[in-house]
Amino acid sequence: MIYDLHSHSTASDGMLSPEQLVKRAVERRVDVLALTDHDTTAGLQAGWQAIAADDLPLTLISGVEISCSWEGMEIHIVGLGFDEQHPTIRALLDAQAERRRVRAEGIAAKLEKIGIHSALEKAQALAEGGAVTRAHFARVLKADGVVDKLDTAFKKYLRKGKRAYVSPGWCSIEQAIEAIQGAGGVAVVAHPTKYQISWKWVRKLLESFAGWGGDAVEVAMTQQMPNEKRKLADLAVEFGLLASQGSDFHYPESWVELGKNLWLPSGIDPIWQRWEAQK
Ligand code: MN
Ligand code: MN
Ligand code: MN
Repeated sequence: MIYDLHSHSTASDGMLSPEQLVKRAVERRVDVLALTDHDTTAGLQAGWQAIAADDLPLTLISGVEISCSWEGMEIHIVGLGFDEQHPTIRALLDAQAERRRVRAEGIAAKLEKIGIHSALEKAQALAEGGAVTRAHFARVLKADGVVDKLDTAFKKYLRKGKRAYVSPGWCSIEQAIEAIQGAGGVAVVAHPTKYQISWKWVRKLLESFAGWGGDAVEVAMTQQMPNEKRKLADLAVEFGLLASQGSDFHYPESWVELGKNLWLPSGIDPIWQRWEAQK
């Protein structure tokens, strides 16, 4: 069984529609996929419909990736297996959408000041009605020839401390956990090694998260340093967290692929044991 519990569609900053995404997951032999768009569940219905229409051999579970503020940083909390209509998750995601809208306007205003025009309209066009994220602004900067790589757009403009950065004021991690669990789901710390923080801070993050009643941490990712899985698994065990795994797939590229390189080291319990137990 291949579980990929972190992926994106055009409902946020992914480049495949939910229909295309579930079809690709089947091609990559994924058995269980979670669609975890940034602060939105808008893509789920289309994904389930595509599976039902073609009777695809794939289980799609509800998911979301919530941007949270913690210690002056942006930390991502993934929610899995919740009722996406439940009032606790709806209220939180509505508030996040409003924060995201205000932030996008702020970023566009800063870009305007340095001579990059109509960035909001262009980002909105790329988002096709979905949530506008910094990744959309990165694509605008690349398309306009301001930068030659998406990564450079973040490094020079969109990252904290850079010219077009706007502090988002996201919800807290505790609020995210409460909303996800209130809707019957599990809360997972996303990609703990991708925040550019030391292991000391990763430990502090996981310890706090466990203290607030969080459920799991992503231990296996597609791109990982050789010893990272082991280190994350050991920390998860230490703080009583379960393990999750996901590709964080956004679009077809050489390094990241649905279901790729996703396996857990020994001695750690996977988050899906919870669901299996409930059956
Ligand atoms: Mn993204
Ligand atoms: Mn993330
Ligand atoms: Mn993600």
